[in-house]
Amino acid sequence: MHYVSTRGSAPTLDFEGVTLAGLASDGGLYVPAAWPRLTEAQIRDLRGLSYPALAAAIMRPFVAGSLTDDELDGLCATVYGDFGHAAVTPLVQMDETHWLLELFHGPTLAFKDVALQLLGHLFETFLSRRDARLTIVGATSGDTGSAAINAVAGRDRTEIFMLHPKGRVSEVQRRQMTTVRAPNVHNIAIEGSFDDAQRHVKAMFADPAVNGPLNLGAVNSINWARLMAQVVYYFYSALQLGAPDRTIAYSVPTGNFGDVFAGYVAAQMGLPIERLIVATNVNDILHRALTDGDYSAGGVTPTITPSMDIQVSSNFERLLFDVGGRDGAALAMQMRDFEASKAMQLTNSQREGASRLFTSMRADQAETARALQWAQRNADQVIDPHTGVGLHASLAAAETGVIERGVPIVTLATAHPAKFRDAVERAVGVRPALPPRVGDLFGREEHFTEISGEYEAARDFVLQNAASASA
Ligand SMILES: *Cc1c(COP(=O)(O)O)cnc(C)c1O
Repeated sequence: MHYVSTRGSAPTLDFEGVTLAGLASDGGLYVPAAWPRLTEAQIRDLRGLSYPALAAAIMRPFVAGSLTDDELDGLCATVYGDFGHAAVTPLVQMDETHWLLELFHGPTLAFKDVALQLLGHLFETFLSRRDARLTIVGATSGDTGSAAINAVAGRDRTEIFMLHPKGRVSEVQRRQMTTVRAPNVHNIAIEGSFDDAQRHVKAMFADPAVNGPLNLGAVNSINWARLMAQVVYYFYSALQLGAPDRTIAYSVPTGNFGDVFAGYVAAQMGLPIERLIVATNVNDILHRALTDGDYSAGGVTPTITPSMDIQVSSNFERLLFDVGGRDGAALAMQMRDFEASKAMQLTNSQREGASRLFTSMRADQAETARALQWAQRNADQVIDPHTGVGLHASLAAAETGVIERGVPIVTLATAHPAKFRDAVERAVGVRPALPPRVGDLFGREEHFTEISGEYEAARDFVLQNAASASA
């Protein structure tokens, strides 16, 4: 499989290349040159596979040429044999229409583990092949950071610098990052928002002063391998609900547009997805873009769903590329204008292409809390607030007829409620307990460095502290 950049001028790479590169050298994101397509009969044949076996089957065309079948089978068995639930991503019924897809049974309690546990192993495989080292720089609104640190802590060939917005992640999220003691882990709290952190990371990739001496790698969902791993659970859940003989709708709590884009990929591969509901909190740039084509970034409002407190959603670029006719040169111009003015209008073909599969809904804090209460009352489920944003959208879509009766609606449960237990307790009066697999999070010492919100501060910290820079 070959991969091309959404901005048209970076070199074409194979899967190993895109996994190690992260961001394309022209500032774009890598996407497969063509979507692998499964027939209905091929999809039907996937029924009944275990999660690791299904993961290998779905990912096989994307990694072709970079991993042998045996290597891929081995990786999937290692990574997905070790989750906190035998089903890896169990599907839970709430009522005759509504289902929860629990994605939080990995080591750090959010869906990010499903992809990052795999990515950690992919890095090791490819780096030892090349006898190379990788300096990972990442930005996190909370969950990517903990999942990525868990996936690479203590490994030989990778070093990780993780930027989080100071004071804007939950205490459990912060402790899951800052209590990990390993020489290859560096936690940095920056003044500002997630968007500032993400901007610094992209700037380091473009800065020869950093990306020259260091071999930079990405763990954010700009890295294609993450999205690929997330396609698997759309198939896994849809097959259980009757696909390919029945269509399924999904509601996806959305920030950087990675998780929901994986659903789009599943649909391109032939999975009969009725609709993808992009569920946002009050930071609703995507909701505005999908309803009136207005993609303009405002300020970020902190909410009880910090992992979605994002204005600029990196992966939206992948969708604009694909539905806009895959014209890299035109998209490069559109994105440059957006980066300068923080605003753009979608073209007609982008709007029409997006509306064929996507609907968007927005939930404010009160609506999110009501969704948590609904889940507790009607299904005896304590859910996290991000999942609550998704469930609010699912309930609204069913009520208003956006999704027809009889079509199952799956809400992606993106985090364990204990990760956001203060907000959960305020909404439903129950304080969810942390599962034993996270260990003694509150008894361990924290380690992180606070820096200003300036790009130079982040850059200099990385250059001064990277082990491989001085080597
Ligand atoms: C990261 C995250 C999201 C948003 O996912 P994207 O892929 O960035 O859209 C939603 N909920 C939780 C709990 C998350 O950690």
